[in-house]
Parts: sequence; C-alpha cells; structure tokens
Amino acid sequence: MPARPRIAVAGFQHESNSFAPFGTTLEDFVKPDGWPALAQGQEILRVFPGLNIPVGGFLDHAPATWDLVPLIWCSAEPAGPVEDAAFEWVAARLINALVEAGPFDGILLDLHGAMVTASLEDGEGELLSRIRRVIGPELPIVVTLDLHANVTEAMVEHASAIAVYRTYPHVDMQRTAARAVRLLAHRLAGGALHKAWRKLPFMMPISAQCTTLEPCRALYDRLPRLEREGLLSIDFAAGFPPADIAECGPAVVAYGETPAAAEAAAEGFAAAVLAAESAFDSHLVPAAEAVRQAIAEGRPGRPVVLADVQDNAGAGATSDTTTLLRELLDQGARDAVLALLWDPPAAAAAHRAGVNAELTLALGGRYGDPPGPLDARVRVEALSDGDLLCHGEMLAGVTVALGPMALLRILGRDAEVRVAVCSQRFQCMDQAPLRALGVEPRDLAVLAIKSTVHFRADFEPIARRIINVEAPGAHPCRLESVPYRRLRPGLRLARAAAAE
Ligand SMILES: [Zn+2]
Repeated sequence: MPARPRIAVAGFQHESNSFAPFGTTLEDFVKPDGWPALAQGQEILRVFPGLNIPVGGFLDHAPATWDLVPLIWCSAEPAGPVEDAAFEWVAARLINALVEAGPFDGILLDLHGAMVTASLEDGEGELLSRIRRVIGPELPIVVTLDLHANVTEAMVEHASAIAVYRTYPHVDMQRTAARAVRLLAHRLAGGALHKAWRKLPFMMPISAQCTTLEPCRALYDRLPRLEREGLLSIDFAAGFPPADIAECGPAVVAYGETPAAAEAAAEGFAAAVLAAESAFDSHLVPAAEAVRQAIAEGRPGRPVVLADVQDNAGAGATSDTTTLLRELLDQGARDAVLALLWDPPAAAAAHRAGVNAELTLALGGRYGDPPGPLDARVRVEALSDGDLLCHGEMLAGVTVALGPMALLRILGRDAEVRVAVCSQRFQCMDQAPLRALGVEPRDLAVLAIKSTVHFRADFEPIARRIINVEAPGAHPCRLESVPYRRLRPGLRLARAAAAE
C-alpha cells in the first residue's frame, strides 16, 4: 500500500419510482432540496463533513493518511426515472474527473442502488461498469448503498465491496460510510474481499421495512453479530418495489476472507429472510377509519400521527394528494395539522397575500390521483422562506431548501385543521418545517405526515400512536395492485402482503 493512498470520493444518488407522474431532470440534481445542491471538487470538503450523508461519512472516517480527492456529488428527490441527458451529464463529469485527477489507489462511491433512467433499468450498474472500463478490473471501488437499493448483478460484479444502510429511518448513513472505509482499508492493506450474494424471491413494500419494527428489527440486529471469524461484511438491502425492473427486490451481499465464509453467510442470512416472509406487513388502515381513531385518541401534548404512507415524496410520490386532508375536515378534527403538502402555487399565493390574509385556493391534487384538488377558503397563519436547519436524528445539521412555505387554516368547516404547504417536494422527516411555521408538533392532537417511515426518527418520541393510512398516492404499498411489466419471472410479493 502506498504511504499516502490517493482515494477518489464521489456520489450520485437517486431512487426512481416507475409509477411516479413525472421524471427527474438534471436541474433536480443541481438544485438543493432535502439534501444539498450538486457539489464539485473542494466544495464537497466544505459542505458534507459532519452530516448524516454517506459522502460526509467518507470524509469524516477516512484515515488521516489517505489523500482524499473529492470529484462530484449530487442527488435529486425521488421521482420518476432519470432523464437520459441528466444521467449522461453526471456520469460523464464523474468519469472525466476520475481520469483527469487520477491515478488513484481506490474509489469511494456514495450511490443509492435504485436508480432507473429512461433507457436503463440499472443506473448504478451501468455507472460502475463504465468506471471499470476506464480504471481497469483491479482498482478497489467500495460503494455505499441505500437500504432501499435493488442490488443488481452488475453492481456486485463491478464493485469491490458494497456496504448498505442498516436502519430505516436511515440514521446510520455516516456509520455505513465508516464500514465502507474499513473495507477499502482492508483491501488497500492487501486483504482479500471474496464476495457472495443472494437475491430473494419475494418483495415487500417499504412500509413493511421499518427497522425499529419486526421482522426487520431482528433481521438487521443479526448483521453485526455475523461479522466475525473471517466474515468481513454482510448486508441486507430490502429493495425498492416501485422500480419496475427485472432485478427489483431484496438482496444479501457478503464479503469474506474466503469464498466459503462469504457464501455460507449469504446463504444463512437469505434463509433467515425467507423464514420471516409472512411477517412483512404494512399494517395499512383505510383513511376514514384511521382518522376516526386519531380523533378519538389524540390529545394536545401527545398527538396521534397519521402517516400518509403512499403519498411520500421520499419514495417518488407527489405529496399533494388530498384524501387524508378531506377526511380530517369531514370528521371535524381539532388541533390537527397536515404536513407537508407540495403546492408551489398555493405557497406563492399565500406569500403574495401575507399573514392574516384570507384567500380561496385549489389545494393540491394536481397529478391525477383521486380525489383531485380541494377547493378551500383559507387564512394565512404563517410564512417561511423554507431554508431550514434540521435537528432530528436523521437530518441533524442539514439545511433543507423547501422554497416558500405557508401555514394555511381551512375556514368554513366544522373542524380545526391547518395545512403546511411547501414549494420543493420533501417528506416531512424532521420537526423543523413545522416549527418554522410556528407549530410545535407536540402540542397537536392529530398530526398527518406525508412520509412512510423516515418521519419516525423525529416524531416517534412525541407520538401517542402511529397509524399507517391507506389513501391514494404514487407510492403504492399494496404491491398486488401495482401494474408491473418488467419483473423477472418467479419474483413474488411477500405472502403476508399478498394475503391482505
Ligand atoms: Zn432509502
């Protein structure tokens, strides 16, 4: 190993939902949203240290003796497939930078693992194969992937090692990067990285993948205990079902000092996942029943949290559907807030009108999911520019850019319901957006959040109870209703989900 190995650092993150109503453009990767804007070169060293983002973990955990060379990092909010021009632009920048700044002794890559493009089912596999073409078969590439990665044969083939988040909510992105750094250090020191992997024959919706609940809690707890006696690393990617691709679904990846150690571990863990198949359950409650229970049980000081799991921007949904909002109004909810409804025109109108102004709006519902926009008379209670420093466990230290925001009270109904609207799509996984609008989440009786699981990191501690709501959205959690076209033959839905 060189005394001062030169290590390239880069990232390109997207989770692509084949069923979302709009695709993902280059501008989506360039602008800031729930994560920072596209960054290149030395700027990466300024933006990411200390943040719970894998590239930040690379910077924080690499040995001081490594000469880190940051190239490019970007991400876009989950949505439909990435436009070809966007993929090609970022891939070319990354590979050109690798060539121009090289030669290197290793590469650390912060990828997602569920990127689909207009022309490619496996964005990351293609990116890795292009990198290999340039750097050759030997140079170590260690990759971090999201827990929702659909790990593919190409990813496993071209990466020297893969480390996957082990928590959902993803509170361990820094720690995953630290594991990736250790695997690269092992390889740089001359150690072997024999790989084995297994693709599981069934999919489970991400609403059944929370790692603070069973069966994922027990499965993920096993992983670190397995890493001994010649097994360097084992991970489980639970998959991202809304990607309509042949290689969709969960996978186990293992790396050992010997092929036998890796194979035995991958086989054993895959068997454990299979044994748990019937336990993967989304616990979906129809919207009307969920709201009835929330009103009955919620009290200011200890809200019931209604998770609008199928309208989660973080899984590519629009975050602007109105079924849950209508149900709160129809049933006369009090001390209730819904966050965050993505509606740039409503936010702009509220900013033009000002605090205390009353106006008539068609709220949300712009992308075809029933029941469409909600026509409402509202009073503007608070405004924000949407640049917010987060404090929850997942996003601590990250400044999100949600664009103009407003808190709107719905008037003329026998209910006390307010809606927090934003201009950049963002799943509400931190209390900061509500506090910026003068709402203390703990003081509510009912809090409706457009998120599937990530909100739990910051809201579970204040929640009396959490209910997964079944309402229309572009992130389907009942997989049996999804119009798949490209899944590989034999891939089935988790039996529990299919039996619901
Ligand atoms: Zn994820």
